[in-house]
Amino acid sequence: MQQRLFSAAKPTGELHLGNYLGALKNWVALQSQYECIYAIADYHALTVEIDPKELEQNTINLACDLLALGIDPKKSIFFRQSDVPEHTELSWIFACLTPVSELTRMTQYKDLVQEKKGNANAGLLTYPVLQAADILLYRATHVPVGEDQLQHLELSRIIARKFNNRYGDFFPEVNPVLSETVRVMSLDNPEGKMSKSHGAKSYIALRDKPDVITQKIGKAVTDSNHNETSLSGGHNLLTLFKYFGSAERYQYFEQAFKLKKISYAELKKELTEALISFLEPVQKRQAYYDAHHDEVRTILREGAVRARGIAQENSALIRKRIGLGPRS
Ligand code: AMP
Repeated sequence: MQQRLFSAAKPTGELHLGNYLGALKNWVALQSQYECIYAIADYHALTVEIDPKELEQNTINLACDLLALGIDPKKSIFFRQSDVPEHTELSWIFACLTPVSELTRMTQYKDLVQEKKGNANAGLLTYPVLQAADILLYRATHVPVGEDQLQHLELSRIIARKFNNRYGDFFPEVNPVLSETVRVMSLDNPEGKMSKSHGAKSYIALRDKPDVITQKIGKAVTDSNHNETSLSGGHNLLTLFKYFGSAERYQYFEQAFKLKKISYAELKKELTEALISFLEPVQKRQAYYDAHHDEVRTILREGAVRARGIAQENSALIRKRIGLGPRS
């Protein structure tokens, strides 16, 4: 039997190349190795203040984007998190097993508290508990993670152990699937990562048209000192070329970079072409799904039926173990 893998993406804005290289490219590839369950994490999106119309729009756009990238609803269970309310029920059960100190020490939470000047909502604190529920509700054994999520995954393991110790073995050990981790830096400030929160100039969105890509790469920060750390703009462009350009041209640019003889104008020109030709077929498929939202909603609905099948079965077993018993 195939092992089960779970992952989710938040519908909080448009997808960019960082999301693609850091996570979604793997999602597509992993479909042939695992029984994959992929969710659009709309409950998680509520931790940031988001306009209801925007949340609705982001959710359907993200579904279109993931299908366009190659998430195959025949192979994988692909659904919207809030269509399976057992996620929040299990999250509450887990919250009652989780020491507050485990949550306040999470790096992501600490960063957010600082960013929000101490005014963080409780959802941001309990976010990793909901993540643990997402994974363990399906008794998934594998989760693809980027470096930024390793700490949260460790918490899922702690919570599973606490549950198993108190109520008897039920949840499996969750293992990270560590693929080649690519950290893509911001185009306009390579000291930070490419991110929605750093503004549209920092990223290439999967939906950016050729003229926008040309403009953004044209303006991307480079450096005259050919600094080889990952915090260099030039190195970041080279990294992007590694994944989207030809191997032969990559070798040429890498060599030139090492010898401090690289022409950034040449690299930018070829990188722009490579990105445009990578994104063209993806955007064609996006356009198809954008024009067929009913079909996309049907895919999500059918995915939710499959997800609920597993979730309800496990939820009944969990309720029995902890003394809640069957729903009346
Ligand atoms: P976010 O929506 O920003 O939370 O990103 C979702 C996931 O995409 C993260 O957990 C990472 O795995 C991946 N990701 C986001 N930004 C980057 C980046 N700049 N480089 C690599 N991976 C990224």
